[in-house]
Amino acid sequence: MTPAIPTIKMEKTDAVIIGGGPAGSIVASTLAKKGFEIILLEKRPQIGVPVRCGEATGSREEISRFIPIDETWILADINAARLIAPGGRIVEKHLPSVGVVLDRSRFDQALAGQAANSGADVRVHTEAVGLLRGKNCVEGVLARDHRTGKTYELNAKVTIGADGIEGFIGRWAGITRHLKLSAIHSAIQYLIEDDGLPRDTIELYAGRKIAPGGYAWVFPKQKGFANVGLGVDPTMIEENTAKDFLDRFVEQHFPNAKIHATVAGGTSGTKPLKTMVGNGVLLVGEAAHQNNPLSGGGIMNALEGAEEASKVLTEALTTGDVSCRFLEQYDSRWKNRVGHAITKFALLRKLIYRLEDHELDNIAAVLDGISRNGEDKPIDYAEIFKTAVKTAPGLIWKAKNLLW
Ligand SMILES: Cc1cc2nc3c(=O)[nH]c(=O)nc-3n(C[C@H](O)[C@H](O)[C@H](O)COP(=O)(O)OP(=O)(O)OC[C@H]3O[C@@H](n4cnc5c(N)ncnc54)[C@H](O)[C@@H]3O)c2cc1C
Repeated sequence: MTPAIPTIKMEKTDAVIIGGGPAGSIVASTLAKKGFEIILLEKRPQIGVPVRCGEATGSREEISRFIPIDETWILADINAARLIAPGGRIVEKHLPSVGVVLDRSRFDQALAGQAANSGADVRVHTEAVGLLRGKNCVEGVLARDHRTGKTYELNAKVTIGADGIEGFIGRWAGITRHLKLSAIHSAIQYLIEDDGLPRDTIELYAGRKIAPGGYAWVFPKQKGFANVGLGVDPTMIEENTAKDFLDRFVEQHFPNAKIHATVAGGTSGTKPLKTMVGNGVLLVGEAAHQNNPLSGGGIMNALEGAEEASKVLTEALTTGDVSCRFLEQYDSRWKNRVGHAITKFALLRKLIYRLEDHELDNIAAVLDGISRNGEDKPIDYAEIFKTAVKTAPGLIWKAKNLLW
């Protein structure tokens, strides 16, 4: 519900974007470059601070489609991935230049800087605290400037919720609801310093005792530093906390590590929303559940979601049609580009994270065989699934019971 707060002024703009993360900044820069008047609101005092992210993402090539690469926000290149099964089997895959580990604060600041340089009005310290509603249509937001304590109306032809997993734009507009507890990865991470860290290889640890309903990660940063974290399904950890599991993991694998910082947060683990739009309003990035529900990763998806959203928003603002019916093109564009894959990952999440440790060990053995036979071939998920089922036919029954 929109709170009753005295307002002091009214501004008009073409689009107001709520959230200065990757999704919001890319929509802002794309629309501003087309000549539209754009205001981007970020409630925090500084873009990208604090970081709530493992900071591992796609390749330099993929990122450079959205912003020119700047070495100041790349901390490490990823050239291999190591999966460590509960029984200790290590499956290693050489994946040259598959991704990078970012300095996420600097990266988000660079994206917001790109938006500002393109002509967008980027306002930090400014929170959307309610929606402005016209007849059956969202017409902007009520914005509060935390520096002055003043609240004002921002009237916009279209309102874009890029406000992340905790965002309210989708809920106020009636597009999203509270996520069920089982649909959230509850994540915690330490920035550690240690001598025994991998260099250009990410490590993923699976197992019920390590991270029930999720996995643990080691993402190397600059020499001697790494993000070490884990995500769990909060309904599977009984009276423990995610921190209990992380403390145990760090104690076991990096007993001499120095912990410099702690990050905690959640990511959504669900299939795509039925719709991400309403009359005069559209959601993008994690606010629209666009992240990968299996891994929790959402940086590249936010950029790609923003790209699709911007195409439809450009047409909507050009033609003056911001109706739900027009904006729905974005739903189908997203589904065709990434959404169908997200649906599959959501099903896989339900299956994989409920397997017993010995079943995960069996799958790791299958993966090990495949990766030894085709060291430099891309990952073929269909082949993995077929071989896993042949090796452990019981998985089919487990899948049937868990998924349907
Ligand atoms: C612990 C953890 C580890 C992760 N690790 C990875 C990883 O390694 N790789 C990866 O790809 N993804 C990772 N993710 C997910 C990734 O961080 C998100 O998917 C990504 O940030 C989504 O980008 P976004 O722009 O949609 O939203 P966000 O980056 O969340 O940006 C939303 C912004 O909106 C602002 N905001 C919210 N409400 C308002 C309001 N009312 N008014 C104004 N501003 C508002 C917020 O302050 C925030 O800055 C991780 C997430 C967590 C929690």
